Amino acid sequence: MLYPGIIRKYRDDLPVAESSIVTLHEGNTPLFQSIRLVKELNLPIQLYYKLEGLNPTGSFKDRGMTYAVSKAHEAGFRAVICASTGNTSAAAAAYASRAGMLALVVIPKGKVARGKLAQAQIHGAKVFQVDGNFDAALNVVKEVAEHPKVTLVNSINPHRLMGQQSAAFEIVESLGDAPDYHFIPVGNAGNIVAYWRGYKAFHEKGLAKKLPQMCGFQAAGSAPIVEGHIIEHPETVATAIRIGNPANWKAAEEVAIESQGFIKAVTDEEILSAYKQVAQLDGYFCEPASAASIAGVIKMAEQGFFKKNASVVCTLTGHGLKDPDQAIEQSPAPIHISASSEELLKLIKL
Ligand SMILES: *Cc1c(COP(=O)(O)O)cnc(C)c1O
Repeated sequence: MLYPGIIRKYRDDLPVAESSIVTLHEGNTPLFQSIRLVKELNLPIQLYYKLEGLNPTGSFKDRGMTYAVSKAHEAGFRAVICASTGNTSAAAAAYASRAGMLALVVIPKGKVARGKLAQAQIHGAKVFQVDGNFDAALNVVKEVAEHPKVTLVNSINPHRLMGQQSAAFEIVESLGDAPDYHFIPVGNAGNIVAYWRGYKAFHEKGLAKKLPQMCGFQAAGSAPIVEGHIIEHPETVATAIRIGNPANWKAAEEVAIESQGFIKAVTDEEILSAYKQVAQLDGYFCEPASAASIAGVIKMAEQGFFKKNASVVCTLTGHGLKDPDQAIEQSPAPIHISASSEELLKLIKL
């Protein structure tokens, strides 16, 4: 049977009329075990990456968007609107095109990674950029969403989080239980809440015996939850989590408490180091924001946090190709040679 996407897979958890389902067959992403990174860094754990960059538009946002757009389609809306650091708009544009709806996208000027902007454009969204950050874009969007033909698909839309729970379901199905720890980047803090709800739902049904400690990581330059106040001018290379006033702030704090986890910060330096290490040691290219979860694992391991052999899942939220400029900036430039093998061999050690 063809894999049908998360709504048809988890039919009871995501109610919507069958004829309104809008899917790009998102979900069913691999859980991939680290071999070399754990060895090189001497991490005393079983580390798994949930490869959310392998969703149809290259980020986990597809899980929420399939359900939000299906519900919008069912309710008869003409257009969806979102503010975005990039991935939400890419997903909204793709799912709206599949549904025959209009996508309106409002982004902070100059701060969206190129791959993400390209996606919104090629899927035919109307893209607007505003001076200011994500939070300024969100204010515009909330007002436009009061129009009767338009609905909001930002993460304050409850259907988004319901769809995103499916990633936790898949992890439990892959491991046969929940992991001991779940590490995840935190921006608007919707995903950490969605995973927790997903784990709890499977636990209540008896499909998981344990619940993980939820460990969220913000970037140090945009860590409102860690610092306990709104950040007016959030800054970080991890543009997907460059959020100064998270929509799900309170709910995320409750998740940290209830799961006996925490929300902490990692610096851009730690993020970029993890970004390169996962690419060069484990062969997987994620975007900088995703690497915040791995940077968190490395940092906590250095502090002796983990019990030996614990199972740890990191959500790698988006694909590295979303932000090619960052990858190029972090890497040595190609070496210019004449078209000769001799010259090449002289320059390398084998
Ligand atoms: C949206 C996003 C995040 C942050 O998720 P929240 O639910 O806003 O906390 C992290 N990484 C990537 C790649 C994203 O697109």
